Amino acid sequence: MDSASTFAPYDDVRIPSRALATEAVHAGRDDLARQGLHAPPIDLSTTYPSYDSRGEAARIDAFAQTGAEPDGPPVYARLGNPTVARFETALARLEGTESAVAFASGMAALSAVLLVRGSMGLRHVVAVRPLYGCSDHLLTAGLLGSEVTWTDPAGIADALRPDTGLVMVETPANPTLAEVDLRAVAHSCGSVPLLADNTFATPVLQRPAEQGARLVLHSATKYLGGHGDVMAGVVACDEEFAGRLRQVRFATGGVLHPLAGYLLLRGLSTLPVRVRAASENAAELARRLTADPRVARVHYPRIGGAMIAFEVHGDPHEVIAGVRLITPAVSLGSVDTLIQHPASISHRIVDAADRQGAGVGDRLLRLSVGLEDVEDLWADLDGALGGTATADRTEAADRRPSAV
Ligand SMILES: *Cc1c(COP(=O)(O)O)cnc(C)c1O
Repeated sequence: MDSASTFAPYDDVRIPSRALATEAVHAGRDDLARQGLHAPPIDLSTTYPSYDSRGEAARIDAFAQTGAEPDGPPVYARLGNPTVARFETALARLEGTESAVAFASGMAALSAVLLVRGSMGLRHVVAVRPLYGCSDHLLTAGLLGSEVTWTDPAGIADALRPDTGLVMVETPANPTLAEVDLRAVAHSCGSVPLLADNTFATPVLQRPAEQGARLVLHSATKYLGGHGDVMAGVVACDEEFAGRLRQVRFATGGVLHPLAGYLLLRGLSTLPVRVRAASENAAELARRLTADPRVARVHYPRIGGAMIAFEVHGDPHEVIAGVRLITPAVSLGSVDTLIQHPASISHRIVDAADRQGAGVGDRLLRLSVGLEDVEDLWADLDGALGGTATADRTEAADRRPSAV
């Protein structure tokens, strides 16, 4: 095989559309068998030798013009990495977009989007609350020079200005699991790009690009990685926008490490199975919580998923202190179940009045349901809610003199 097909393995592969479960285990790996490999190689090079500096100059010029991945061998790790490119290819296939561009974190990915639009003089953002706490903060504080107008979905069209560069929504939203009608919102945006944060739903449950979102953002730290050991972000989009994102990534440096790219590609292969199994657990827990008199309200999305938000009558801090199997920790989307109190942690950075206004009350808890047996999860939740103090719960109960 020639060296071009070794280094740019996907360009010559034309694959008919395949089912999501098939893409999850094959996308980004199409060249491997021809190379005599099974597991994808991890390329840790920061630089790449080339005896043809005229050729390098031409390829760097081409990148500066379009941001397209340079043909042929890589140049420098901040410009692109083959292992990370496999993950990007795979995620784009799963989201049904032309391209995807990976970053060091979800926040680095969102920052790159804002920088792309800001650099075009389109600094105004229209956004719908709630968003993930740090996304809210980045927009509210205007850290990257953007200016935000908060609105509800029905107000988007009226909030647009000539300098509006982006409309941003999350659905289901972090942490309330509020849903927006992406098709209707995309219609309201007109020609302004709609960014949908698809971290909670994943492409297994929802593909926002099919509903009119031009940009699909993930905190890949969550379900895409899936095991609580990778921090990453990614934007799935058309190739034109992807080129601009690569140029910003090159200039600002928020690159994803190749090892993280490898772990994410591996994570994607089980994504459909994980999301479906965890969603079954979550649907059952949501049913039981809804029927429970200790629980005031349960938020579980219409489209399903593995996230639950619920409000307790008692003290939510006691529930956090009372879990034994479930891990009391921020983040989500791991194989194990996590619970956290958004008003204290994930959305602490949002001004209290704004938080309340977005439906993030002080009694709200957010549960990321994992792959444990649902009966074990329920036993733990039941105990944490101050319910059945069975023998093996004595210690937990002792720590909760005023159990709710
Ligand atoms: C966690 C999260 C982010 C931020 O991603 P990081 O990888 O932590 O930078 C953005 N959006 C949503 C919905 C999230 O849950």
